[in-house]
Amino acid sequence: MDDQARHTSRKRMRDSSNMLIDVHCHLTAPEFEGRIREIIEKSVEAGVEAIITSGLGYDDGLKALEISDYRLVYPSIGVSPYILEGYERVIDLIRRESKKIVAIGEIGLDYWYVKDDEGRAEQRRVFREFIELSRELDLPIVIHSRSAGKYALEILFEMRAERVIMHAFDGAAKYAVKAVERGYMFSIPPSIARSQQKRNLVKRIPLENLLLESDSPALSPIAGQINYPWNIMISAEWISKIKRISVEKVIDVTGGNAVEIFDLKL
Ligand SMILES: [Zn+2]
Repeated sequence: MDDQARHTSRKRMRDSSNMLIDVHCHLTAPEFEGRIREIIEKSVEAGVEAIITSGLGYDDGLKALEISDYRLVYPSIGVSPYILEGYERVIDLIRRESKKIVAIGEIGLDYWYVKDDEGRAEQRRVFREFIELSRELDLPIVIHSRSAGKYALEILFEMRAERVIMHAFDGAAKYAVKAVERGYMFSIPPSIARSQQKRNLVKRIPLENLLLESDSPALSPIAGQINYPWNIMISAEWISKIKRISVEKVIDVTGGNAVEIFDLKL
C-alpha cells in the first residue's frame, strides 16, 4: 500500500468507528501479576479497543513484547528516569525489536524523585540518547516529566523532537501550549478527577492534541487505589465536561489521534 492509500484507509477507519484507546499503561506491573488476561478481557467488555502497554527496563520490556497480541495490546519500551542502571541494554532491545514496538517510552525526567544536580544531569544525558534513538528509528516517544515538565520540553524543543506524547504532564499550561504549537500530544489520565492542574491543561489544549491514558496501575481517579485501563472513560468524561462536547466526540477524536501518532494498524 502506498502512503496515500494507507492514509485514506486509516482515515476511513477512524471516521467509521469510535475507538477508545488507552495509549499508556503498565499491564506487566507487579500489581497485575496473574491477572493480565482478566484485565484485558474486562477492558474489552468496557469498550476499550486498544491498549499500549509500556515495559520499563529490559526484563519488563521483554514481558511487554510477550503479552502483546497486536490486536488489542501493543508494546512500548522505555525506562523509569530514576532507574537508569543498565539502560544501554534497553537501547539494544529497542533497536532489536524496533519493528515490533509502537513507541519508545516512557522516557524523560523525574525531578520529584531525583533532587541532586548530578542525578538530574545524568537523566538529561540519557533522555537525549533516547530522543536521538527515536529519530534514528522513526518511532514516537512517550515522555515522563514529573516535576520537570518545563525542562523536558526545553530539551525536546532544542532537539527538534517530533511525534511526542507528553504523558500525565504535571507542568504549567503555558508550557503545554508551546508544545501544542509543535504538534505535541498530551495524554490525560483518570487522576484528572482529583487534579485541578489536569483540568486546566485540558481547558487550554485543543482536542486535536489530546489522548486518553490510564497509566494503570498508577494515577487512579481515587488516590491510593489501583487503576485499570477502562478508567480512561473517566478521562473522556472529564474532557467532555470541560470542553462541553459529547463523550462520543472525545472518544472519536482522541482515538483518531492515537491511531495517527502511533501509526496503529488496527
Ligand atoms: Zn507510566
